Order: sequence, then C-alpha cells, then structure tokens
Amino acid sequence: MIPYGKQNISEQDIEAVVEVLRSDYLTQGPCVPEFEQALCDLSGAKYSLATNSATSALHIACKVLEVGNGDIVWTSPITFVASANCALYCGAQVDFVDIDPDTYNLCPNALEQKLEQAKQQGKLPKVIIAVHMCGQACDMQAIAALGKQYNFNIIEDASHAIGGRYLNEQIGNCKYSDITVFSFHPVKIITTGEGGAALTNAPELHKKMHLLRSHGVTRDPQLMDQAPDGDWYYQQVELGFNYRMTDLQAALGSSQLKNVFPWIAQRQQLAKRYTKGLSGLPLDLPLEIEKASSAWHLYVIRLHDASKRKQLFAHLRKNKINVNVHYIPVHLQPYYQALGFQAGDFPEAESYYQRAISLPLYPGLSDSQQDYIMQCLAEGLL
Ligand SMILES: *Cc1c(COP(=O)(O)O)cnc(C)c1O
Repeated sequence: MIPYGKQNISEQDIEAVVEVLRSDYLTQGPCVPEFEQALCDLSGAKYSLATNSATSALHIACKVLEVGNGDIVWTSPITFVASANCALYCGAQVDFVDIDPDTYNLCPNALEQKLEQAKQQGKLPKVIIAVHMCGQACDMQAIAALGKQYNFNIIEDASHAIGGRYLNEQIGNCKYSDITVFSFHPVKIITTGEGGAALTNAPELHKKMHLLRSHGVTRDPQLMDQAPDGDWYYQQVELGFNYRMTDLQAALGSSQLKNVFPWIAQRQQLAKRYTKGLSGLPLDLPLEIEKASSAWHLYVIRLHDASKRKQLFAHLRKNKINVNVHYIPVHLQPYYQALGFQAGDFPEAESYYQRAISLPLYPGLSDSQQDYIMQCLAEGLL
C-alpha cells in the first residue's frame, strides 16, 4: 500500500527521544524552549510557543485576539474542521469565504465583497483565519490590506506550510498576520507525534498564549496581584488549559526540523514530476502562484468530470494507492449544517470538493512508485 502521506523517522530522531527518556524531565524541561527557538530561527518570527496540537494553538490564538461571544470569525471552507472549530470554542460565530478555484485558498476578491456586505450589515469579522492550503500561501498582502481597511486581526493556519515561502520570505514570520500556527501531526511536513506551535512578533500576545497554555498559572511576580508568599508561590490569573508539549515531542521536533528544507525540496521535485507526467490527462493540476513557494504538503488533482471521481478513487485504492480527499467543505459537515449552513453556500468550494483527489506525496516516495501511481491514474480515467 502506498499511503498519501507518511512520516520520516531517522535513527537520530529516535536517539533524540531516547535521550529525553533517560533525562530528568519528560515535560517542562529544556527541550521545549530549544524547539521554540529553532522555530523562531527557521521562520523569522520573534516568539514561538509549542503546544500539544495545532488545534490547541488555534484555540489560544483566538483567545488572545479576544474572540468571544458576539464575535464573528471567517475562514475557508476548504480546510480541516479545526480551523473553524477554534472560534466556536471561544463562543464566537463562524462564517466562510469561498475559495479561489486556481489556488484552493480563500479568495481575496470574494473576501472583499463579503466584507463590504458585512460592513453594511454591521457584522464585520473580528478575526480571519487564512489557511495555506496544500502548503501554498494565501495572498497575504491582499488579506492584510483588507485587514487594515476593515479592522480585523489575522491568524495564518500554516498547518500545511512550514518551510514554505511567500514573497521570498518564510511562512511563519507573521509579517502579514498577528499569529501563525503550525501543525506537527505525523501526516504534516515535520512531526512531533502530536503537536503544534503559535508564532508571533507581538510580545503581549506571546505572553498571554504562554499563560493560557498552562492553566493561566504564573510564577512571574509582575503578573500577580500581590507579592509572592514565598518561593513556592504561584497564582492563577486566567482560565487556561493544559496545552503543553512534552520534552519527548519537542526533542523529536528539533531533530525533525533539521530536515525540513531537504524534505521540501524532495516534495517540490515530486510535485514537478506529477505535473509533467499528468499534463495530458483530463485533470486540473495544482497551480503555483508566483508570489509563493509551496511546502507541498499535498498534491491535489481535480477531475474535469466530477462524475468519474468516485470510480477513479476506488480504482486507485484497489491498486493499493491510498489516495485521499482534502477536504470535505466544513460548512457541509452536519455540525455546521445544524448551525444554518447549506449546500450551495460556497459553490467554488463545493465544486472543488466534487472533483478533488490528493495523490501520495512524501519524501521517500520513489520515482517508480510515482510512475505506477500515474499509470494507474491514466488507466482509471479511461
Ligand atoms: C492538521 C490540521 C489542523 C489541526 O492540526 P492538529 O495538530 O492535528 O491539531 C488544523 N488546520 C489544518 C489546515 C490542518 O491541516
């Protein structure tokens, strides 16, 4: 079976984790701050906070941007449900902006139109979560310009995109956003088993997220309402969570991070081979925009003929190629339908979903495996 994505664990990764197991700290030791520093070094953001998942990072990112009851958060319908759920956790409402069919990313033109309508109705969003689908950056310049005009904050959900670039700079530097979130789930570019991170250039946002990661409890006298009773003293000053990453995970993360650029180079190479090999078939292939250099988390093809998708998917699975579909539009999920969303609300996202298949893509996928995939694909389209 050829999977659609796969982690890559080296002997060095294993040794890094074993070393933590033999050390004094399994959690809250030195490895988490080291990993956080490495994430800053890679991305260019001033601060980074490692968490137990990207979902947790998205949750506390919304919290520190003061998303709450009565607020509205917008994101793309073509994403994993976590990009939208994080706003619901905070008691806010969620709405979606349709995608650009060329990039599968939130469409800046659709965004502008929707903002103008929302302004007239007095229902402007507080935060927009821009998802870098498949690893290719959204048009962040356009989104940031609209953010200034309509006064909303921006979170980048870069779960697919660590190591990717936008306008020749690393995704994660938060030049166009308040906070950027990475995921380290095993199918993503690098892994910590489970894990995520929230990066920012704003010290106050970082401080608040730090507090929320660990119960809202602090040992910093400056954050307390009285002088400490003694050296044991701590105070809970917020209602936080336990969203901490362990040292085991962070050691794995630091070790994995060393490979991020060679791995992305391999992903780019494989993507290029797919694009060359599949160009004659009745498919829409991923479009690379000039402003971005994708991390190539996913290679998504779209069939010209949606009615053949089910059959092609089954044909590939039957041939032991474990293709997948990313994603079922969030607004079509029963939970979101119960909130009032309907089929037809976001036509580009729905058309994308009808036609999309994610092909296997990961470092270590061999040329011959890839040729086999492309051959099966061509047969399945006959
Ligand atoms: C994987 C993913 C998440 C959630 O990441 P976890 O680390 O599993 O919580 C959120 N958003 C997107 C776009 C993802 O792909």
